[in-house]
Amino acid sequence: MAEVASNGGQEGALVEIENLRVWFPIKSGILLDRHIGDIKAVDDISLTIRRGETLGLVGESGCGKSTVGRTILRLYEPTGGRIVFDGQDITTLNQNQLRPLRRRMQMVFQDPYASLNPRHSVGRIVGEPLRVHGISGKKDTSKRVRELLEVVGLPADAASRYPHEFSGGQRQRIGLARSLALNPDFIVCDEPVSALDVSIQAQIINLLENLQSDFELTYLFIAHDLAVVRHISDRIAVMYLGKIVEISAAAELYDEPFHPYTISLLSAVPIPDPVVERERETILLAGDLPSPANPPPACRFHTRCPYVQPTRCKEDEPPLRRLAPGHVVACHWAEEIREGKIRPKEVTPELVQQVQAAAWEPPPV
Ligand code: SF4
Repeated sequence: MAEVASNGGQEGALVEIENLRVWFPIKSGILLDRHIGDIKAVDDISLTIRRGETLGLVGESGCGKSTVGRTILRLYEPTGGRIVFDGQDITTLNQNQLRPLRRRMQMVFQDPYASLNPRHSVGRIVGEPLRVHGISGKKDTSKRVRELLEVVGLPADAASRYPHEFSGGQRQRIGLARSLALNPDFIVCDEPVSALDVSIQAQIINLLENLQSDFELTYLFIAHDLAVVRHISDRIAVMYLGKIVEISAAAELYDEPFHPYTISLLSAVPIPDPVVERERETILLAGDLPSPANPPPACRFHTRCPYVQPTRCKEDEPPLRRLAPGHVVACHWAEEIREGKIRPKEVTPELVQQVQAAAWEPPPV
C-alpha cells in the first residue's frame, strides 16, 4: 500500500485496488492436469482511482495493464488482493451480487468492430444493456438510443444501420454510446484509440473528455503509448511486467520522469519542435519484454534497464517510494539518475543478446 499512502490516502477514491495479483495457471500433460507454473500478469499492485479523474495506465503490450482493467470489472478473477468500488469490497462478490454494480462500471474496447455484433443493428447494440438489465420498454429504449447516438455525435438514422456501414471512429462512437446506456460512474477505456488514425484519435479523445465533464465520469484509460494518454489523463501510472513502477500527475511525469522505464518510453515520444527533437537524447531499450511466466528477480526491469547498477538492482526489489508530492517511483537509484550521477549505458549487440536470452527462459517446472 505504499503507493496509495503516498498519493494522499484514499480520500475521494471511487476505485481502490490493494495488493492485486492476477496469475493465469500454465497447464501441461495430455489432460492439461499438471500445473507447471503461472503467468504472473499482475503481481501485487496497489492503485487508487479518484472520483471524476482520468487515470492513464501505460506500458508495453503484455505488461498486464488490460488485465488490471478487466479484473477491476471482475471479468477476470483476482488471484489475491482486494478491489473496492465506491467503498464496497467487490473482490469476492458472485455474479448475482455484482449485477447492480455492473450498471455502474462499463468498458470500451480497443477494436470497435470486434466488440460490436455485425448481425445486430446499431439501435439494438446500443439498447442491449437496457434490455439485459430490464430497465425500459421498447418505446423508451428507442428514445434513449436516439439520445445516446446524439450525445456521441452520430445521426439518429444510425440506429437502423449496421456496424459495417460505419468508419472505425464512428464504430468507436457506437461502442461509447452503448457504454453510456446505463449511466455508469466508471469506464475502463482499453486502448480505445489505438486502432484509429491519428486525426480520428484526437476526435475520440475530445469526445471522451466532453462526456466525462457532462456525465461526471471516472476513467481508467489504458494505452501502450505515453503520447496518447498525455492530454486526457490527470494522473498516469506506468506498468512494467505486472508491476507499477511510477505514478505521478500527468504534467509532472512528462516534465520530470524518475523511473528509467518511463524515461526510455518518453524519449521515444516525438516532440513537435524539430530543434528540441534533434538535440534530445533518445534512450533505447534492449530486447523485448521478458516472459511474465518467469520474470527477472528483484527489479524486473534490470535486464533491460540502461541505468542498471551491479548487485542491488539484481538482488533487492525496489519498493514504490515517494520522491515528490503525489509522485512515487520504484527504483533504487532514482535520485542519482535525476541528478545525472548515473548515466544511461549504450545499447550494444551483446546487451541485446543477453536480454533476449533472459526473456525466453522456460517457466519453472
Ligand atoms: Fe534500473 Fe536498477 Fe532502477 Fe531497476 S532499480 S530501474 S534496474 S536502476
